[in-house]
Amino acid sequence: MICSTPAFLLRAFDFRETSKIVTFFTRDFGKVKGILKGVRKDPRKFSTTLSPLSLNHIVFYRKRNTEIHLVGQCDQIDDFGMLTPSLKTFGFASHIAELVDCLMPLEDAHAEVFELIFDFLNTLKGGTADTRPIFQIKILSLSGFKPHFDSCLACDAKIERDAFFSRSRGGLLCGRCCPTDRHAEAVLQGSIATLLYIERSEWSKALRLNMSSQIRGQLEGILTSFINFHVGRALKTSRPVHELIDLAG
Ligand SMILES: [Zn+2]
Repeated sequence: MICSTPAFLLRAFDFRETSKIVTFFTRDFGKVKGILKGVRKDPRKFSTTLSPLSLNHIVFYRKRNTEIHLVGQCDQIDDFGMLTPSLKTFGFASHIAELVDCLMPLEDAHAEVFELIFDFLNTLKGGTADTRPIFQIKILSLSGFKPHFDSCLACDAKIERDAFFSRSRGGLLCGRCCPTDRHAEAVLQGSIATLLYIERSEWSKALRLNMSSQIRGQLEGILTSFINFHVGRALKTSRPVHELIDLAG
């Protein structure tokens, strides 16, 4: 079947002498892997820079019995400034690309995730604000890995006052259950309220929220632990931005 769709580039690596295998997040088919034959020998064969999170229009030949489809056409629509990004911008974009790749299953369409990437990139293009926590909260919710932040993961009781984050169990414990994990750390009410607000608000509304540095710091720690817990490892792009330059090649 011939398929045609807009697609964000998540990851590309060399394959054999002349080709590349690319993972896209497409609007109509979700995450798709494809081979761009001959692109290293003749880059003009496809009119794309293959930069991370660039938006392309792709045409691919979808076959049932393979995960890697033949991409016949890949035309870049927008690079969102990723062709010559600052280190910071590159670090943010690489993290989002890796996160989407890790959390989303193959060939399962999810238009809201596609829109979320689009919103993130448009914001990134307009400035250097770090909107990664907003993206993380939203994609966790959309991909079904939503943290249980309104109830205790041990006893399911609604969390009214004291809340503790358990890294080893990937969620919140109430005051009564917190002794079951002696490493659980107290969570500010403001962090829970912020997370729930972002989860329920549109991107533009979530952007306008003023987070205190204390809440922001706590949420960043919790979200990183939560993502590592579900992915089963630390993401390569969770490293400090200055170390990410090695991942650029
Ligand atoms: Zn409990």
